[in-house]
Amino acid sequence: MKQFRHIGLSIAIIVVLLFPSCTKKGVEPQAQSFLMLGTVCRITIYDKPSDRAFKAAFDRIREIENRMSIHLDESEVSRVNRSAGTEAIPVSADTFLVVQKALEIARLSGGAFDPTVGPLVQAWDIGGDAPRRPGDEEIAHLLTLVGWQRVVLDEERQTIFLPDEGMVLDLGAIAKGYAADEAARVLKEHGVGSAIVNLGGNVLTVGRKVDGSLWKIGIQDPEQERGGYALIVELDDTSLVTSGPYERFFTLEGETYHHILDTTTGYPVVNDLISASIITESSFLADALSTTLYALGDERGMAFIKTLEGVEAIVLTADHRLITSANTPPITVTDETYHR
Ligand code: ADP
Ligand code: MG
Repeated sequence: MKQFRHIGLSIAIIVVLLFPSCTKKGVEPQAQSFLMLGTVCRITIYDKPSDRAFKAAFDRIREIENRMSIHLDESEVSRVNRSAGTEAIPVSADTFLVVQKALEIARLSGGAFDPTVGPLVQAWDIGGDAPRRPGDEEIAHLLTLVGWQRVVLDEERQTIFLPDEGMVLDLGAIAKGYAADEAARVLKEHGVGSAIVNLGGNVLTVGRKVDGSLWKIGIQDPEQERGGYALIVELDDTSLVTSGPYERFFTLEGETYHHILDTTTGYPVVNDLISASIITESSFLADALSTTLYALGDERGMAFIKTLEGVEAIVLTADHRLITSANTPPITVTDETYHR
């Protein structure tokens, strides 16, 4: 019997470095965490913590999960998937917008990012309870069900239709970013001006630290234990999201299979990246683009990122090269084995 060995599911890929907080008004920062969206969601408010603000932000994250998770049978995305080949399903403005944006990134990336990758994601089940390596014939068949161009959006009716039975939408590479943006928006509505929203490593900073200085966010060194950083980036009211093969994977007969799939081969993407980070204002975009950058690899990925305004990238390669786009915020290399 083949034995699957589940060696890792590391959820928090980036952990915020909490430096002793001396606040002007003497307000102590407060943090709350919940398991949502399949990960640890942590919000830290530095300037104006209140139970109402926390509750409203987490309620919003839960609402987005309830609408978009493929792990919940009654989510809108699950209903769209169940109705593939039969009927169009009306969805909330949230789901419609996220699918619309996901399709746009699919188009821009030439399909390297593709929210219809679901049939393959389900077959591999990497990070799930029963990961396996599908056979070649199965993969060839599943690839015929992947194709972002086929998704039918009806703007007027706000419906989504997957025309072929077996097609599956999977917003796993983008929904957390959207939830982070929405949580931040809700916090601001509650008067919060200084906070960090960290949804399993999908980080969004709100404003600056209360003393006016920049946030310092660590990027995980994929070769170290969680919390061991390769770099520290200074951020100001922006998002940093990292994708990498070290987050969710399993090994079988000595081979490691990770969770970002190549939409042309049906197998996990093979390249020499070990970490791909995006820094941009919207966490939504940062989430989708970090997966895209990883899927495209360093050369094509960095060329792609260059075409986008206000989007910066940081890549680490297996041979410890550090590749950055032109206008990244200040970076401190804490593991000196990485070099430009
Ligand atoms: P994580 O959610 O673990 O932080 P990502 O944001 O990179 O990581 O998203 C990976 C998830 O996206 C996978 O678990 C899967 O659900 C989905 N996915 C895998 N390959 C692709 C792809 N090529 N395009 C879009 N989504 C993908
Ligand atoms: Mg992503």
